[in-house]
Amino acid sequence: MNQLPTYLDYASTTPLDSRVLEAMIPIFLENYGNANSTTHLFGERAAMAVKESRQIIADAIQAQPEEIHFTSGATEAINLVLKGAFKSYGHQKPHIITSQTEHKAVLDTCAYLEEIGAEVTYLTVNSDGLIDLNELASSFRNDTLMVSIMAANNETGVLQDVQRIGEICKSKKVLFFSDATQAFGKIPIQVLEQSIDLLCFSAHKIYGPKGIGGLYVKKGIKLTPQIHGGGHEFGLRSGTLNVPGIVGMAKAIQLCLDELKETSVHLEKIRNEFEKEMEGAGKIKVNGKHAPRLPHFSNFQLLKEDSDAFLLRNRNKIAVAKGSACNSALIQPSHVLKAMGLSDQDAENSIRVTYGTMTEINPQHNNILKSF
Ligand SMILES: *Cc1c(COP(=O)(O)O)cnc(C)c1O
Repeated sequence: MNQLPTYLDYASTTPLDSRVLEAMIPIFLENYGNANSTTHLFGERAAMAVKESRQIIADAIQAQPEEIHFTSGATEAINLVLKGAFKSYGHQKPHIITSQTEHKAVLDTCAYLEEIGAEVTYLTVNSDGLIDLNELASSFRNDTLMVSIMAANNETGVLQDVQRIGEICKSKKVLFFSDATQAFGKIPIQVLEQSIDLLCFSAHKIYGPKGIGGLYVKKGIKLTPQIHGGGHEFGLRSGTLNVPGIVGMAKAIQLCLDELKETSVHLEKIRNEFEKEMEGAGKIKVNGKHAPRLPHFSNFQLLKEDSDAFLLRNRNKIAVAKGSACNSALIQPSHVLKAMGLSDQDAENSIRVTYGTMTEINPQHNNILKSF
């Protein structure tokens, strides 16, 4: 086995774009100062790099630079939003609305908050994975603090109607947080236009480095910090800034947005051809097929083969996911697919294929088809 399998698990993480690496190298080797040590040129240069990166990321989502806060990734950002808002406002408004198909970072944090007094409503989804906006509207209470609904699902790629959800939350004067970790850099996100108050993202899902992410917090919202010490990031998140990571993330989002249209069109074509051919041959049934989806996602039930047998047979050919990576340590059928109405067995027999830029550079589409 000399040749690596074809990577088709871009939703779990992406390789680093070499242009991102190039942007990061001088920060490691030359401008390695602490961005808070501005008594000398090293620190000043680091601070300048952070400032420029913050501006790029803010511009990418229609935010102001001081509304962007860097964290170690989306999981930390999600913890900061939910716990930080509950700590600040939960004594008066302990009610949170979320959905059954959120990422575990949201669901596990909500479960923790329930232990310390929060009340959480988990919206159901239809068979295509979409929440019901009427159910959302009727779930609001006088003490509702926040609605936490993801932009794109990490298992199916299904896109919720963020714009409408934002409008509803705005009319109810309730905070709207969207976990946009999968959507960021893949579809346009405009926090003002879409009435989003809080939004998280992560670099390693968009060809940036692992261990860096961030949070948009609309001016005026007071989250209680979850990490203390030094008051970095406008007092919200202490700790020496990951300058190479920040610079890499800014470069990554810039590249994604520059190439967004081209990449989406290409990957959607590959995805649609794959699904058409496989469904035509009666080999798969696509999950979330009738909902709007991210263009590079395909999640489907295998109809003619057991998923474990499939994975074993193709282990050296293609790298795909069963359920989500975050759940795969647990032997449990996907909570997302079950919420969409799949039986344990159908959820168990589902596979996630996610395409990416390497699929584009090096089309191995025929190889992929032959694996099924
Ligand atoms: C990957 C992912 C996360 C977690 O992000 P990390 O930066 O790896 O902590 C959260 N939510 C969604 C939707 C994701 O896809």
